[in-house]
Amino acid sequence: NTEKVELLLSELKSVPDLEIYQKTSDLKRFSKDFFDYSPILIDELKDCLADIVVRPLSVDAIIVVAQMCNKYSTPLTLRGSGTGNYGQCVPLNGGLVMVMSGLRKIRNFDSKSGEITVESGCLLRDINDELIKHGRQLRLLPSTWRSASIGGFIAGGSGGIGSVRWGFLRDPGHLQALEVITTEDSPRKLELNANNSEALNHAYGTNGIITALTLTTAPYVEWQQIVVDCFDLDQAVDLLSKFSCAALELYLGTLLEKEIVTCLPSGFGKPSSKHRILLLVSPDGVSTIERLAKSAGADFDDLGPENLKAGTGLRELSWNHTTLHMRGIDPNWTYLQMLLPQPELEMMKKLKSEWGSNLLWHLECVRQNGVQRLASLPLVKWQGEEAMNQLISQCRDLGAVIFNPHTITVEDGGLGVIDSDQVQAKSNFDPKGILNPGKLKGWNLKVN
Ligand code: FAD
Repeated sequence: NTEKVELLLSELKSVPDLEIYQKTSDLKRFSKDFFDYSPILIDELKDCLADIVVRPLSVDAIIVVAQMCNKYSTPLTLRGSGTGNYGQCVPLNGGLVMVMSGLRKIRNFDSKSGEITVESGCLLRDINDELIKHGRQLRLLPSTWRSASIGGFIAGGSGGIGSVRWGFLRDPGHLQALEVITTEDSPRKLELNANNSEALNHAYGTNGIITALTLTTAPYVEWQQIVVDCFDLDQAVDLLSKFSCAALELYLGTLLEKEIVTCLPSGFGKPSSKHRILLLVSPDGVSTIERLAKSAGADFDDLGPENLKAGTGLRELSWNHTTLHMRGIDPNWTYLQMLLPQPELEMMKKLKSEWGSNLLWHLECVRQNGVQRLASLPLVKWQGEEAMNQLISQCRDLGAVIFNPHTITVEDGGLGVIDSDQVQAKSNFDPKGILNPGKLKGWNLKVN
């Protein structure tokens, strides 16, 4: 193995437009993501290490790397910005980690369709800034939108800010086309239409190297930040659902249990010991939010428009950023992800009565299969793997759909179902199975 790595390295050194990293500190840095949110994944992934890290600056360099990894049957794991939570870009079997951040061109904006074509290493922040110049914005963003890449979001993310209106990344209509490099004996550069791109969407980079993407966008809205504080959790959940279903345009609807609110950094609304709803709403929806909040006896606070440059807006408290802030206070907080069954409060109360202050509710409004629903990323105090598994089965028994953030495969982190199109795409584009080995369960079952 060491001999193969040495041979590969000596060939890589002659590739134009390719940065190579070999220092142990770099190998370690580029072999990790944010899997430490899960104590289960820490045990599983902490010792995984790339043999070599490369950073191509052109598509041509990627084609050569793909061909060389094929030649030496070396595992090739792609990395955007490395902000994933499930070790998606962690090399399980060593080999090469390829950092995609050198591919950052915005290739085209089509003013008629509003579609934008960008290279996969572009940061979501930069794409959004570009779109705003054209009166548009991204439909969906992770709360890591300042640092995450679009390639990593499509291959490893699921949704986030915007999901209340636009659902999830795999819903048809977001991803319109992909440019992909295969890892066959002679790598090909493919242009995939929306249909053929589906199998690579949320496949953790196991079945193709994405070099460029075409996405649909939404008209720009200057989102207004509203905070609504409620004395009762029942009232807060009820109001959140009302906001989500009202005739108004929301970009974010987050609910944080009061114990979370007291731990939040300052500057995100008045200090409060109540349950808090965070909203991003279009200017013409503010008065409706105010009316509904005040009619329910809740406190209403209008924080005005977002300042995207400052990075201090409500969106920085939402989705897994809530977990980030809580872990900053106590790293024993971890989390779960689920779609709540309806009526939500029944399950929420049952679990609360059993888990008490070891479980704090964090809800997000989402559109699931065209219907307004509430998802949750509850904070869970770490009490060992057995307790976590018990909580997961309890949630399932009560009707929640769990997206388990304590597992490493595409399928286990989703609905647990093997997608034969994803496996077929891997057979077609990565026949030797060198891309991110170990992460696609359907492929593991096929070859073992
Ligand atoms: P990486 O972590 O580098 O990679 C993710 C996956 O994509 C890996 O499997 C990698 O191999 C693959 N990949 C990367 N580039 C390519 C490519 N060019 N071709 C093929 N495969 C590729 N996620 C959400 O969905 N929504 C959220 O709201 C959200 N909030 C978060 C908050 C915090 C605090 C943290 C730590 C994480 C959060 N995440 C969220 C997870 C993560 O930040 C996002 O999914 C992000 O978009 C990943 O982008 P990245 O560039 O960091 O990808």
